[in-house]
Amino acid sequence: MPSRYLLPSLILTLASFSLVAHEHGHEHEHEHEHEHEHSLAAHVHGVATLNIAIENQQLALQLASPAMNIIGFEYKPHSAADQHAVITAERSLKNEQLLFVLPQSAGCSLSALDIDNDLTDLNHEEQHSTDATQHQHSDIIVNYSYKCTNPTKLRSMELTGFFKAFPLTEKINVQLISAQAQQGSELTANNPLLSW
Ligand SMILES: [Zn+2]
Repeated sequence: MPSRYLLPSLILTLASFSLVAHEHGHEHEHEHEHEHEHSLAAHVHGVATLNIAIENQQLALQLASPAMNIIGFEYKPHSAADQHAVITAERSLKNEQLLFVLPQSAGCSLSALDIDNDLTDLNHEEQHSTDATQHQHSDIIVNYSYKCTNPTKLRSMELTGFFKAFPLTEKINVQLISAQAQQGSELTANNPLLSW
């Protein structure tokens, strides 16, 4: 298989996950009467998704989580304490070595990190500001890109630190795609080890 063609498609797959999450958020604008159904399908408090793509020396992680799991609320931060909670949470999200522990022998190092947080997205705020009383959902999507010098050793990941940092996260639904494997798993604080 011409594996060098696989990475762009995996990355596109991750990008499309992100688009789905965004479309879901905007759907709420127009379909309030169905909000609960949509929420149950795609945004359940306590549940996050982690998409993992591995190709050659590149590892891409995409975390998509209700803001509730990460920050503890989903409204626009207004008090100083709210702002502090957002800053603290984003700082934790950037501390990827504590959240996602990779085998040292794989030689992985972070090359890029991008946080897309509905709570600090100005466009998102404008859309919602007309009715402050309606229940809102907000998501956080984080993309982590790594380069691994010895990717054959990259066969596991351990998320104990993630569940400690974000204890409102009860479950992470994992989808992993590599040239060799495609698998789905569920991780919890009691079962934080992923292997493939
Ligand atoms: Zn929510």
